[in-house]
Amino acid sequence: MLTARRAGAIDSGTGVAGMRGALRLDEPMARHTSWRAGGRAQRYFVPADAEDLQCFLRGTPSEEPLLWVGLGSNLLVRDGGLRGMVISTARLNACHFIAERAIVAQAGTSCARIARLAAQLGLTGAEFLAGIPGTLGGALCMNAGAFGGETWELVGSVETIDRQGGRRRRERPDFEVGYREVRGPADEWYLAAELVLATDPEGGGIDRIKALLGRRAELQPMGQPSCGSVFQNPPGDHAARLIDVSGLKGFSIGNAAVSEKHANFIVNRGGATAADIEALIEHVRCTVAERHGLWLKPEVRIVGEAPGH
Ligand SMILES: Cc1cc2nc3c(=O)[nH]c(=O)nc-3n(C[C@H](O)[C@H](O)[C@H](O)COP(=O)(O)OP(=O)(O)OC[C@H]3O[C@@H](n4cnc5c(N)ncnc54)[C@H](O)[C@@H]3O)c2cc1C
Repeated sequence: MLTARRAGAIDSGTGVAGMRGALRLDEPMARHTSWRAGGRAQRYFVPADAEDLQCFLRGTPSEEPLLWVGLGSNLLVRDGGLRGMVISTARLNACHFIAERAIVAQAGTSCARIARLAAQLGLTGAEFLAGIPGTLGGALCMNAGAFGGETWELVGSVETIDRQGGRRRRERPDFEVGYREVRGPADEWYLAAELVLATDPEGGGIDRIKALLGRRAELQPMGQPSCGSVFQNPPGDHAARLIDVSGLKGFSIGNAAVSEKHANFIVNRGGATAADIEALIEHVRCTVAERHGLWLKPEVRIVGEAPGH
């Protein structure tokens, strides 16, 4: 288990000269994931801005594992923690209008903020982002979508950064985009994106956002820590339906439970470990496979070490 030092201690010895962001040791990832569970990160860096991040990456050993984190709303960190470095995009959150129909946002900008800004500018197409409780970087990585919209439908271009701090503008054809999956150039991460929207002569974007949020509140267990939908929908069906008809609503392991309200959500009823959640994910997969002959594919990203490793 990766727990050698005091949680959240400021790293004085292994930082990079000139660094302006905050570097922490043994940072509890339960603070940075929407499941509010899981182990610690060995090193956790919050760059002050993109230039600070470039400088930091240039001074980071090339063999050190890197994991990028936005709002942790699609992430399960195992209880044994994460080796290497977590880069948080929390402070990379500039977002502005650049041209007639385009918005540029940094990776750490919340999806909700982009949706609101677009609506206020009289643009349409980004309303679905309003209810996705993550960042633009996470949405680009996952091709997050809802109510018929998908993140990459909006992308004009992206800016990426590599391990050496090199920044590049990349165009849409540099990426293979699918349902909750995106493949792009190896060892590059998102710094920002240009989103191209449509004009909305009738207005009403804010009302559409309110309606979508209302719909979510009806369908989803909003008050309990979760990661949203745990499994991808199989072609032509819904994971939630398969889980529901397998009799799994309310089934629990430890303090992790299949939501009574939405069967594709696993909620933390208070004090669930990452091991509880992962065991429940496996139980759901096995039960659905036995009853329906298909293996659900997790949409959530499971990272880190099991305890004892
Ligand atoms: C209540 C609830 C409802 C949800 N509803 C939806 C929904 O309707 N539709 C949907 O698609 N998802 C939904 N989700 C899941 C989640 O919000 C999305 O997947 C979101 O896009 C994740 O963003 P994040 O910033 O939290 O990413 P994280 O969880 O922090 O990271 C997710 C992945 O993205 C990678 N990543 C993060 N930032 C970067 C970056 N800058 N560059 C490269 N990789 C990066 C991480 O390494 C990780 O692999 C929901 C979650 C919750 C809790």
